[in-house]
Amino acid sequence: MITTFEDKPRDKCAVMGVYNHPRAANFVYLGLYSLQHRGQESSGIVTNDNGTFYKHIDMGLVADVFSETSDMERLIGNIAIGHNRYSTTGMVKKINAQPLVVSSKYGPMAISHNGNFVNSQVLHNKLEDEGAIFQTTTDTEIVLHLIARSKKEKMIDKVIDSMDRIQGAFSLAIMTRKKLIGVRDPRGFRPLCIGEKDGAYILASESCALDILDAEYIREVEPGEVVIFDKNGISSYRLTEKIKNSSCIFEYIYFSRPDSRIFGEKVDKARRKLGKMLALENPVDADRIISVPDSSNTAALGYAQETGIRFEIGLIRNHYIGRTFIHPVQTMRDFNVRIKFNPVKGVLKNKRIVVVEDSIARGTTLRYLVRMLRNAGAKEIHVRVSSPPILYPCYYGMDFPTKEELIASQMSIEEIREFLQADTLHYLSLEGLLNSVPRENCGYCTACFSGEYPIVPDHKVIKHQLENGIVTD
Ligand code: SF4
Repeated sequence: MITTFEDKPRDKCAVMGVYNHPRAANFVYLGLYSLQHRGQESSGIVTNDNGTFYKHIDMGLVADVFSETSDMERLIGNIAIGHNRYSTTGMVKKINAQPLVVSSKYGPMAISHNGNFVNSQVLHNKLEDEGAIFQTTTDTEIVLHLIARSKKEKMIDKVIDSMDRIQGAFSLAIMTRKKLIGVRDPRGFRPLCIGEKDGAYILASESCALDILDAEYIREVEPGEVVIFDKNGISSYRLTEKIKNSSCIFEYIYFSRPDSRIFGEKVDKARRKLGKMLALENPVDADRIISVPDSSNTAALGYAQETGIRFEIGLIRNHYIGRTFIHPVQTMRDFNVRIKFNPVKGVLKNKRIVVVEDSIARGTTLRYLVRMLRNAGAKEIHVRVSSPPILYPCYYGMDFPTKEELIASQMSIEEIREFLQADTLHYLSLEGLLNSVPRENCGYCTACFSGEYPIVPDHKVIKHQLENGIVTD
């Protein structure tokens, strides 16, 4: 029996790009390592050596895909893009792994995408009616078809023309014969930043990928911006649609790494504020604060700072089990959780414990954890969640459980508390969440909490995507 361990929404992809470095592939490789949390099912790099493209793409983690020195040695060229991908179970196919590469009359092109196009089916049908033949079932391939068919003269106009027709979330790295191009959708759902090292330019989903290269963070690609890196340096263009941005607030709660900077703020700082706000809204008399590692560590520290209650490591997470596991002892209760977490009994025994969790999707893992903590001797268990209840699915590039599987859309908070067997349960309010993140130059999508979708999803499209195995990135 194969067991999966995930009980959280998941980000689907990471993108990387490097322009003008003799070891471009090595830079991308290291960056993809840092961005492994954004996608663990496939990884790939495509390089460009004076217009000849080389690729290495396979299923698995970065460390598995590029396991031989020869894999990297083959990837010559001073421009490169890379991608880590996660896709929904059952749709995991090597053919959909990115970067996607095609030949066109303008030369070879490659693309890496993080996001989801909400009008992909309409575009897909139209392109097929016009004779396009699709090689994959990802929505990303649509971009390449649109660029190749655009009647505009210059490459930049082809890109703008194509991206103007696409609705949804996209942070892209596109490589042509002579250029590296970065694009972010007008609402800026997913992050994308620019760095520089030794005269080379770098595009990355998160700034932690720049840190590993010791590269300088320059800035974010703005929502609705197209940046081109070529022999003239960087140039900036705009997509036509001008609209208030709605960056994904969940990136601050859970998806992005705390050592990254996104949407103009350090994730660590924003996440700490979430914990502090949670403490202000939902204080409790307790002896120790613990986190559900690793994603809740920072919020738990914020909660501890605000309350003055001691933070302790009460749960140890096993980092070496991978995302799936062959279940050897099917009868062992709570096995899935026990293989991943173990309690530190000395910290918990006879103590009133606050458990800080960043979010609850199905609630099944947390229920096991509460039981585990009680068995380890905790006297009281108070669950505090550093985000509001997740009520709705995401259509902008996150893999969420269905609405029916989201516990908060099926139960009241009191019913969830009872399900978890916690002494108390409180969530951060939506207002508290918005007050914890920088608001000056940034608007946010909060749709999974509020139901207010920045782009109304076409449910027929979503249904069709699901029924036909069309996957998003
Ligand atoms: Fe982020 Fe909006 Fe998706 Fe929620 S619905 S995960 S806030 S993009």
